[in-house]
Amino acid sequence: MKVGFIGLGTMGGSMAANLQKSGVALVVHDLQRQAAGRHLAAGAVWADTPRALAAAVDVVFTSLPAPADVEAVGLGPDGLLAGLRAGSAWFDLSTNSVAVVRELHARCAAAGVALLDAPVSGGPKGAASGRLAIWVGGDRAVFDAHRALLDAMGDRARYIGPIGAGSIAKLTHNAAGAAINLVLAEVFTMGVKAGVEPLALWEAIRQGATGRNRTFDRMGDHFLQGSYDPPEFAFRLIHKDVSLAAALAREVGVPMRMVNLALAEMTEALNRGWGGRDSRVSMKLQEERAGIAPLAVPAAAVKAALDRDG
Ligand code: NAD
Repeated sequence: MKVGFIGLGTMGGSMAANLQKSGVALVVHDLQRQAAGRHLAAGAVWADTPRALAAAVDVVFTSLPAPADVEAVGLGPDGLLAGLRAGSAWFDLSTNSVAVVRELHARCAAAGVALLDAPVSGGPKGAASGRLAIWVGGDRAVFDAHRALLDAMGDRARYIGPIGAGSIAKLTHNAAGAAINLVLAEVFTMGVKAGVEPLALWEAIRQGATGRNRTFDRMGDHFLQGSYDPPEFAFRLIHKDVSLAAALAREVGVPMRMVNLALAEMTEALNRGWGGRDSRVSMKLQEERAGIAPLAVPAAAVKAALDRDG
């Protein structure tokens, strides 16, 4: 199988190098030829355009900054679609727009080319070390056929669902990470301004119940199962705790926009009569507003996923 790689920047440069280390012969392209220096030194072949690269390979990986770059590389006059043969595959490792990958998927399908969205998570260190999640959407058989290439780049390649599913997972993950960081900034500045030394505060909270859990793991206990009864920790008690934190922030003069929003949300949940349910029950309000069916993943399926992936 001949493999092409376009976009040899912070992420793509290391992923392409890891493909080479696993014994894959690469054809490479980037807007800036110097980005390919180490790959060419390791035996890769340079292509002047995406079209020329596409004509020489069976599968292409792209790792490009933004949706417009992926469209340019895919659809331009010297783009991938002008060169890819029917039966070939294109994995877009970029973080892309769901609408754009679905549109590109349709254009590719018309030419007999399978496009899969395959955004990654792990940062530059993960791209270099291979501790990298790759979330893939598209044709499952094409994913399976290229599994070895994905495994050469990341230790957590996973098929998520039809085209767009990988990007949806990536955007869900990154929006959560960014919003959580802002909340952490709010509460941490409150703690510091209220009088605790930053290192001591960080050392303390990372050993708490939330601190010891991987961020998303406890969603499985209640939210994912739609199960809030009986409570592990009563909702009225966490409502009291957040009220005390918001009051402390007022006393020490720290604005807490997001925590105050959370408290208003939690007060609304309390007014539903949910005080005796589990502390996470206010998450149900958003489920209602989003207009999705109530979540009800069986407990056994949650356990099996945790056991399988660690
Ligand atoms: P980058 O800017 O370091 O690399 C992008 C590369 O693409 C550059 O070498 C650039 O020259 C090349 N490029 C841009 N337009 C091109 C074109 N038209 N034709 C050929 N080459 C072109 O970006 P990055 O940090 O490696 O990110 C790549 C993708 O991975 C982005 O979608 C990003 O959101 C995503 N991502 C980044 C990280 C991270 O921590 N950096 C983590 C996960 C996902």
